[in-house]
Amino acid sequence: MRLHPDPIPITESDEEIAAAIAAVTPVPLLAAVAALTGDLSLLRDDLRPDVGSFDPDAGLGPDQIAAARALAAAALAAYRDAGSVAAPQPDPADLRRIIEFMAGGPISDDYVAVMTEELALDGADLRAPAWTAADVAPGRPFRVAIVGAGMSGIAVAHRLDQAGVDYVILEKNADVGGTWLENRYPGCRVDVPNHFYSYSFAQTPEWPQYYATQSSLLDYFRTCASELGVRDHVRFETEVLDATWDDTRGVWRIEVRGPDGTDTVESHALVSAVGQLNRPNLPDLPGIDDFAGEWFHSARWDPDVDLEGKRVAIIGTGASAAQFIPAVAERASELTVFQRTPPWLLDTPNYHDDLPDGMRWLLEHVPGFANWDRVYIFWRSHEVIVPMAEVDPEWDSTESVSMLNDIVRQLFTAYYDMQFEDPELRAKVLPHYPPFSKRFVRDNGIWARTFTRDNVTLDVSTIKEITETGVRTADGVDHDVDVIIYGTGFEASKFLTPMTVHGRGGVDLHEMWDGEARAYLGLTIPEFPNLFLMYGPNTNIVINGSIIYFSELEARYITECVHLLLYDGRTSLEVKRAVHDEYNVRVDEANRRMAWGAASVNTWYKNASGRITQNWPFSLLEFWQWTRKPDPADYVLR
Ligand code: NAP
Repeated sequence: MRLHPDPIPITESDEEIAAAIAAVTPVPLLAAVAALTGDLSLLRDDLRPDVGSFDPDAGLGPDQIAAARALAAAALAAYRDAGSVAAPQPDPADLRRIIEFMAGGPISDDYVAVMTEELALDGADLRAPAWTAADVAPGRPFRVAIVGAGMSGIAVAHRLDQAGVDYVILEKNADVGGTWLENRYPGCRVDVPNHFYSYSFAQTPEWPQYYATQSSLLDYFRTCASELGVRDHVRFETEVLDATWDDTRGVWRIEVRGPDGTDTVESHALVSAVGQLNRPNLPDLPGIDDFAGEWFHSARWDPDVDLEGKRVAIIGTGASAAQFIPAVAERASELTVFQRTPPWLLDTPNYHDDLPDGMRWLLEHVPGFANWDRVYIFWRSHEVIVPMAEVDPEWDSTESVSMLNDIVRQLFTAYYDMQFEDPELRAKVLPHYPPFSKRFVRDNGIWARTFTRDNVTLDVSTIKEITETGVRTADGVDHDVDVIIYGTGFEASKFLTPMTVHGRGGVDLHEMWDGEARAYLGLTIPEFPNLFLMYGPNTNIVINGSIIYFSELEARYITECVHLLLYDGRTSLEVKRAVHDEYNVRVDEANRRMAWGAASVNTWYKNASGRITQNWPFSLLEFWQWTRKPDPADYVLR
């Protein structure tokens, strides 16, 4: 997969151009063509989208869509005739006009700034550091250790690299890619469209699907790590066992276990980029080790276990299991799926589709189309759906949290009515908790096709124990199988385990947290100087945005913290306890007002005490505003 490949000049006939764009969403098309040609008259008021609408064409009717495509086709033909030479990049006023057309109306300066960063037109990297260590603190040794070479680790490494800050990445696996390296189960793919689920600074039009499969994603992160020069800084097969802050010397002493045994690495700052979904969770079921057949967790998929013709049990129907259940159903002779809580399905007809030829053509031939498509997805998945997850304290129902949320529930329920004819099956698969209190599962009809197969049974009884021969349910039935697959998620609330971390005065992070992981902006922790967490407590998103957006903003914040230390000639930076505590009170309050905080449904967002330790309850814009630059007043600088 290539990053930023050169566009191909257009040589196609008018008819071929019209055919290529015949099925493409008109809004990003018009925005891209207006930016490419400089012809802003294409952005007609009567073609403005209603981005709040669920409809993929954003509320435009057939006549408007036809008019938009005709305008775009004519402008692309003129661009071709003039030798496929792009107009100069739009100036800020024109850029704003195009962005606001795409957003459906006027938006704030901050939103325009976020969208401009996400757009990264012509490879502009607006989140890159505007300084280098050599300029700010020439000759000062300063090294950052990053734990993990997954999506977040690569992002922060790239930023440090751009600033000329020395760094090393400690990675327990033998390759980069993190979650996309470890999760290799059949059917694994992303559930956020890729033109958005990718770095703003490393865009590619070469995604083969809207929602790429694991192998494409791994290819992308490998390509980024190599082309950005990050890979050379990785110590592979090196697991961090402990990190201890040495206050006298102002360094982190990091004990690692690598191919040559244990070793100690020192750094001035430490970044944890280990993710939230890193350690598989096996259920606490009696007898789990007694099973005599083969068994494994989905994140440790065993390709040597041949499922062909086997009797298989799958435990769990979360986002991972929902992807591999259909694939296993095609191989197993009998498949029994044990469901505790059904997922809400989100109707996504193109979920498994390759990009249509027209879309591929546009991505290859129209410079900037991928970028505009990216921000269009960003905007539509941005804050528009957040109100649908907000709790109305007056609303009295266990199945929805507000009138708006109930409308979503009815819409989602209609999809089940359409998909599941058998009332008994429909009753089993239909959730009875508010939509958006846990992550939805995208579906193109495969869920219904799978559970109506003759070899598949959906069992909703409680599992009592695992026996030598299979799964015993509470009704006393023994389900004998050859293979058990656990799609039971991750130990998400045990942040940073199993490594131990000791801060100032030897304070133990896990003892201090005592199961209640908290950080300021998800990033910094009192008593732990120069320690930064990526995808830390309360930075997970449930329904909107892309986690890469968060990682990029965290990477910028961390890099600017390093700047603060270097510029000020300081050794350490530690968030003030009062700042951290006050922020966390706000986070907890806000999470209680969201569907995932209010609903009593099981989720990995809640820790053992029921507190939401995982989720971001505010807008995506607020994360951008609060992390744009560290405020020195929030920190003790020594
Ligand atoms: P998960 O959402 O936590 O699902 C775990 C499943 O196992 C749930 O159905 C859960 O039931 C069930 N389970 C757990 N313990 C059980 C027990 N003792 N008995 C019976 N059932 C049990 O984990 P996941 O599917 O791995 O997904 C985790 C997250 O990873 C997702 O929310 C998403 O953020 C991410 N993910 C994303 C993608 C993607 O982008 N396409 C794919 C996979 C995962 P309950 O619901 O009743 O707890």
